[in-house]
Amino acid sequence: MKKPKTRWGIALFLMSPPLLAAAFYLVFTFKLPAHAYVHARIIPTLGIVFSALSFLVGHFSYPRVHNLKVYLAGYLTGLTGLAYFILFAYPSRLETQTTFVMLLVFANLLAVLLVPSYVKYRFTRRITYAIITLEAILLVCARYLPECTAWTAALPPKDLLSSRAVIGIGWAAAVFGLTLWRLHDEFYLGGIFTGVSLFYCLAWLGPATVTRSVLLQGALFAAAPLYLEIGIVIHWFLRMEHRASYDPLLHIYNRNYCSRIITEQSACNTAPPFSVAMVDIDHFKKVNDTYGHQAGDTVLYNVAQAIVREVVPQGVVCRYGGEEMVIFFPRKTARDVKPLVENLRTTIEKLKIPTRRKKLSVTVSCGISCREDTSQSVIDVIHAADKALYRAKKGGRNQVKSGKTPLASSKKK
Ligand code: GH3
Ligand code: MG
Ligand code: MG
Repeated sequence: MKKPKTRWGIALFLMSPPLLAAAFYLVFTFKLPAHAYVHARIIPTLGIVFSALSFLVGHFSYPRVHNLKVYLAGYLTGLTGLAYFILFAYPSRLETQTTFVMLLVFANLLAVLLVPSYVKYRFTRRITYAIITLEAILLVCARYLPECTAWTAALPPKDLLSSRAVIGIGWAAAVFGLTLWRLHDEFYLGGIFTGVSLFYCLAWLGPATVTRSVLLQGALFAAAPLYLEIGIVIHWFLRMEHRASYDPLLHIYNRNYCSRIITEQSACNTAPPFSVAMVDIDHFKKVNDTYGHQAGDTVLYNVAQAIVREVVPQGVVCRYGGEEMVIFFPRKTARDVKPLVENLRTTIEKLKIPTRRKKLSVTVSCGISCREDTSQSVIDVIHAADKALYRAKKGGRNQVKSGKTPLASSKKK
């Protein structure tokens, strides 16, 4: 029933190549030893700063973003980033230790993709703190007991066609597949997590393919949390914007967004016509009283979605209040809109809405009005549509009525 949404996040994914290019540029353009400080000091410092910020972005995303994936991703990226640079500063058995950190990164991102997004507040914190504590213990062991990471040396590190390439590319492909499967409707998290996987995949493949691989790995470990942070902050803003503009029950725009359209259209004095339709469910109180509020909600949701299917993209559908919806039709006259709204009325009449007790049918009454002249205010158009709706109710319901919006000059008289 729901409209398919495509919010995988291709635009945010495309942000990763420029950052990757910048990391490669840093590593290969600055000549050693003249710029040794860039490699020895600046990259690790940036890495530590971005990793620490990643903790904060993850931490403060909750409860604002209210998504376990985001919360956990911030913490785990921060933790593994810090671990990498701590090991980088004490390079005894660097190779096996960083391979160990990389394997942890792989497991982390897969875990982030597999945990549910919406879990109760308390569980979110508990799950995250349990994983962080466990990983912190593992990383302390890797730092002080290097023997426990020795087994990673068994992974063939040099040959690109060996298991190293298979693990890296296979893992990135798995992340891509999982995000496509599970994250197409989570405000671009799919693209963000796939972008992050690209950084770590290249960091993993580095030792098999390029000289200066340790430097490249460092630059990628610094850039990955930065990329994740930018992504999470954008995700955060988009979610806030969504929350401020959408009705969570009906999945259409809310009254707040409706007021924004009214303000924008009122400021725009050049482009009538602009039509408005008001839609109100007939005898809706009876549905609530007879079948309960929950059945009422289901009916309301199904009617709203039927309206969306019928009038989008010509119209913008908002919840005006209660079970009354308003549809804005830019650049359409009342005459253009009337058949559309008539269709809508008959479609809703035919709906059989499944509720717990039985399938319900409802009807709607509609009022239409149009702004034909810049002297007419949008509020007046809405009032005229509301009056037409009232006449439709008076006339016996389940019908569409049109009303004229008064001109400003006739109002003064
Ligand atoms: P009419 O044909 O004259 O429109 O009759 P009506 O019973 O539909 O009257 P009215 O439009 O005034 O009814 C509004 C009712 O809608 C009152 C309220 O109980 C119900 N309602 C408003 N919002 C919601 C909601 O979010 N969920 C449910 N279940 N009911 C709601
Ligand atoms: Mg009603
Ligand atoms: Mg009403």
